[in-house]
Amino acid sequence: MEAIGVLMTYPTSSYLEQQLSTRFNLFRLWNISHKHQFFKDNAASIQAVVPSTQLGSGADRELIDSLPALEIVSSFSVGLDKVDLEYCKEKGIRVTNTPDVLTDDVADLAIGLILATLRRICESDRYVRGGMWMNNDFKLTVKFSGKRVGILGLGRIGTAIAKRAESFNCSISYHSRSQKPESNYKYFHSVVDLASNCEILVVACALTEETRHIINREVIDALGPKGVLINIGRGPHIDEPELVSALVEGRLAGAGLDVFEHEPQVPEELFGLDNVVMVPHVGSNTVETEKAMADLVVRNLEAHFFKKPLLTPVV
Ligand code: NAP
Repeated sequence: MEAIGVLMTYPTSSYLEQQLSTRFNLFRLWNISHKHQFFKDNAASIQAVVPSTQLGSGADRELIDSLPALEIVSSFSVGLDKVDLEYCKEKGIRVTNTPDVLTDDVADLAIGLILATLRRICESDRYVRGGMWMNNDFKLTVKFSGKRVGILGLGRIGTAIAKRAESFNCSISYHSRSQKPESNYKYFHSVVDLASNCEILVVACALTEETRHIINREVIDALGPKGVLINIGRGPHIDEPELVSALVEGRLAGAGLDVFEHEPQVPEELFGLDNVVMVPHVGSNTVETEKAMADLVVRNLEAHFFKKPLLTPVV
């Protein structure tokens, strides 16, 4: 397999790089300055692309068109919003992702963001570090246990968040494309109805053309001035300028955000708001899960080139 060219688009995991480079002829796109010449010299040998949807480039039509020998896209992510799935289908290129292995971590972080936002953990930390404890004036915070939690997208991650929130005695409702008869949670036919009937709204759906800006002004206003919005899906789910103005104007109580519309750019207005907790798209970033995701990427590639069934096929 050493002759098979594999192109990684972004430096997401040094463990993954090491695993790929011991098996394949690994090309690191971010290290290449003269891309035109690179593709001229190497495109014929590149049979696989390993994209990431964090920050870096995915596998769009332009990249696919520049690789005539491409057979498989093995994404280091579960979300495939940066892979042109339709074009891959059309061209007979296989696509795999990394579902399940990251579910627990992302759900854990969603609960962490809820607690950090409601209980103002980051602000409390700044208070102690800033030597302000002597003033003894840290404000009261908001209780999480028993709150009404709404989940947008009751898939693998959404379900894992719901289970965790249940253990905090929260009541759970959700909106997805389809109702889940196997779940006891209350289903709402629209995201506006979901937002009107919960106190904490967690975005955990896939990013598609239908879900881009699914959190708009109407949804934010339905959640209301006591509502808290958590996003561990993708940044473009939220109309970010609308979120910023709702937070600045007090039309929303707070937000916990792992993802941003134009990440790594974050609206500066958010920096001064203590009711907002922000982390840099780290939902699945633990030592354990990085390894599990990388191993799955590699096993999918090996299965493909040994002509065995793919482990997690999407296309
Ligand atoms: P999943 O099991 O496929 O779940 C996706 C959910 O999105 C499903 O419940 C689906 O509804 C729902 N959905 C799709 N289109 C919708 C629409 N138009 N309206 C309402 N709901 C819609 O995927 P997963 O493993 O839970 O991952 C979910 C997403 O989390 C990924 O796509 C990714 O973007 C994001 N993610 C983020 C991080 C991070 O680091 N922050 C890490 C991993 C994943 P149905 O059930 O009705 O089909």
